[in-house]
Amino acid sequence: MAPVLRTLFISLSESRSLRAVAEKSSVGRRVSTRFVAGREMDDVLRATKLMNQKGATVSIDNLGENVTNAEEARASANAYHRLLDAISSQALQANISLKLTHMGLDVDENLAHELVGGLVAKAAALKSFVRVDMEGSPYTQRTLDFVHQLHRIPGNQGVVGTVIQSYLYRSEKDVNDLLAAGIRIRLCKGAYKEPPEIAFQKKSDVDANYVKLMKTLMTSGIYHGLATHDERIIKEAKAFATREKISPDAFEFQMLHGIRRDLQQQLVKQGWRMRVYIPFGTEWYPYFMRRLAERPANVFFIARNLFRA
Ligand SMILES: Cc1cc2nc3c(=O)[nH]c(=O)nc-3n(C[C@H](O)[C@H](O)[C@H](O)COP(=O)(O)OP(=O)(O)OC[C@H]3O[C@@H](n4cnc5c(N)ncnc54)[C@H](O)[C@@H]3O)c2cc1C
Repeated sequence: MAPVLRTLFISLSESRSLRAVAEKSSVGRRVSTRFVAGREMDDVLRATKLMNQKGATVSIDNLGENVTNAEEARASANAYHRLLDAISSQALQANISLKLTHMGLDVDENLAHELVGGLVAKAAALKSFVRVDMEGSPYTQRTLDFVHQLHRIPGNQGVVGTVIQSYLYRSEKDVNDLLAAGIRIRLCKGAYKEPPEIAFQKKSDVDANYVKLMKTLMTSGIYHGLATHDERIIKEAKAFATREKISPDAFEFQMLHGIRRDLQQQLVKQGWRMRVYIPFGTEWYPYFMRRLAERPANVFFIARNLFRA
């Protein structure tokens, strides 16, 4: 049943008409708060400050993807510039995460380079960091090429990183190429629906590949992020770090806003580094539906809270 629901929610996440209706409806806005900090930049800055006070760092995502014109792409980049300024002026422990299709990759690749390049240059000046999220498989190679190219520009080393999805067969090679270039990686399982020709379909295979890649990252000498809420994998990461004498400062765990807050706090209290990915904005629908796809039971919790309110 779960794989069927996962497929259903992922295809719903791609529906432009549902997205348009949902993002405008007041019920939609109410349910989105389950995973999204709010609609405005002030909302996410407040949530970031709170998270910092609880001992976790943050990566802020200005929600949006697949823009269809240059103006939208420029507006998204401007919002990220304002975010980097606010993070710096408020001395928040935070960096930014963005999607290339939000920066106009499908509209004009040169424009996307100009916009993301500008953000990475600003992040370098402010001693911050830009994470380029990984989208569905049509974007894997383009995203990796984009990040490798950006990272080669003098001054950008260590300032831009990307994401590897353990469900893709190709990921081991991609990890090795990124490590050879010294690029920081966020390792996750992968949130899209990918076919058996290119991706593991069984959860046990995705998990096993995650653990294998995780150990490669942890012994690479480069600072990476282990993005998962999977308690079994987190336990294995902690045991591996202890056994291999890898310092708790040499990597970070990452989780999503609103998911397993108990585990986030437990890791902080145990002295591990924890970064929470906090999204904000009005374009929450695809992100929200992918969270339902990961755990269809979320629908029942959300419905219950909606009727209680
Ligand atoms: C910081 C961060 C950044 C990410 N960036 C990307 C990216 O750039 N590209 C990409 O494709 N994917 C990204 N993801 C999503 C990721 O690929 C997975 O889809 C997601 O994290 C669920 O996988 P899991 O590792 O938590 O393990 P799972 O095996 O799916 O879940 C393990 C346990 O975690 C809890 N859990 C997981 N998901 C949910 C949820 N939605 N609601 C409630 N509980 C849940 C449940 O208790 C579940 O039993 C990111 C995830 C994180 C944490």
